[in-house]
Amino acid sequence: MHVVRGEGGWIEVICGPMFSGKTEELLRRLRRTVIARQPLQVFKPKIDNRYAETKIVSHSAVAMEAVVVSSAEEIARAVRPETRVVGIDEVQFFDPSIVELVERLASKQNMRVVVAGLDLDYQGEPFGPMPSLLSIAEYVTKTLAICIQCGAPAGRSQRLVGGGGQVLVGATESYEARCRSCHVPRAEPTTMRLGV
Ligand code: ADP
Ligand code: MG
Ligand code: ZN
Repeated sequence: MHVVRGEGGWIEVICGPMFSGKTEELLRRLRRTVIARQPLQVFKPKIDNRYAETKIVSHSAVAMEAVVVSSAEEIARAVRPETRVVGIDEVQFFDPSIVELVERLASKQNMRVVVAGLDLDYQGEPFGPMPSLLSIAEYVTKTLAICIQCGAPAGRSQRLVGGGGQVLVGATESYEARCRSCHVPRAEPTTMRLGV
């Protein structure tokens, strides 16, 4: 990827299943902008309360301060004109207006917008605004985990507990990374644990 700053802005999407390193990759990119002294603002949705309230934290415990927001509208109000880089983690949780906002920040305000999120939900269906974000992005990175069952590259998130609807915030106690063959979209929790 050749990210060389000109006049205009652009959009980068990092997507993949849980445990694939989306947050690590987002933080790696954002940390470099801090070193280069580019004014940065980092956001995450309120729904994600794993580990730390006002930090983005990866499963491998890499962290960065972030502003917790409840809506895309709140990000719009919080972004300062001098900001050059906007980072958003768990972007799949935002309402559809996040797409328009990200587009506006890149094209009207000439910002570099780096977002990370789950492309698929636990049933293997496209997650919220992700398909649109992937379509409008200049740069798309798909990260994969390692399938816990067979060791193949894993693009799916297997839910290990029942209930919760599309959104059930959790980590290794509720989910594991699985490949296409090992993923069971709508299985009963007990069946999945037995690996049947
Ligand atoms: P994501 O944001 O995509 O959920 P994170 O960046 O938070 O992922 O965490 C990635 C880290 O998760 C890896 O570096 C590794 O330490 C850990 N991890 C846990 N389970 C797996 C797995 N099945 N495959 C790969 N990495 C895993
Ligand atoms: Mg993450
Ligand atoms: Zn597998």
